[in-house]
Amino acid sequence: MSSSLTPAIDQLVRCLRYLPGVGAKSATRMALNLLERDQGRAADLAIAISDALTRVRRCSRCQNFCEADLCSICESPKRDDRVLCVVESPTDVLAIEQTSDYSGRYFVLMGHLSPIDGIGPEDIGVDKLKQLLQESAVSELILATNPTVEGEATAHFIAHIAKDLNIPVSRIAHGIPLGGELGMIDSGTLSHALQGRKPFA
Ligand SMILES: [Zn+2]
Repeated sequence: MSSSLTPAIDQLVRCLRYLPGVGAKSATRMALNLLERDQGRAADLAIAISDALTRVRRCSRCQNFCEADLCSICESPKRDDRVLCVVESPTDVLAIEQTSDYSGRYFVLMGHLSPIDGIGPEDIGVDKLKQLLQESAVSELILATNPTVEGEATAHFIAHIAKDLNIPVSRIAHGIPLGGELGMIDSGTLSHALQGRKPFA
């Protein structure tokens, strides 16, 4: 579908297509809707995106999104320092937090190992994770990467590092569909998976 109303609208449509799951048709519909009916909200959206880009950064400890040096979870004195859960994205942190079963801390890789895309250990903060494991009193590392080929490979890679440091490693278990993503799973299933975690070889 070609959109050729004005160059600015074309540009807006191109940008909206960066969003996951948005094709040419829905991007055009969104753009026209914002301009036709919702100019106030369109302005709010532009400001919100610009604000988020300026204010949001990565937590210096766990790599999760935050607006200060540390995120609210790393800053909380109520969390258990002995348990560290490694996830691929901030969406996974939100999903696990919704289960209310987990009181440990997190490390957010912001991705997974993917040699084919040129994503290596340094791109997902493995050095930082290793340093964190060396400096803190972690007695259990939970690998909650996605059950995809890349997620499993990433879990194995990190498990080796933890093993070298004599830190017991577990992997979340039941009910996570192969190829699935944590953020898409209902909190009951995820809660069960977290409780049913198994030692990871
Ligand atoms: Zn943090």
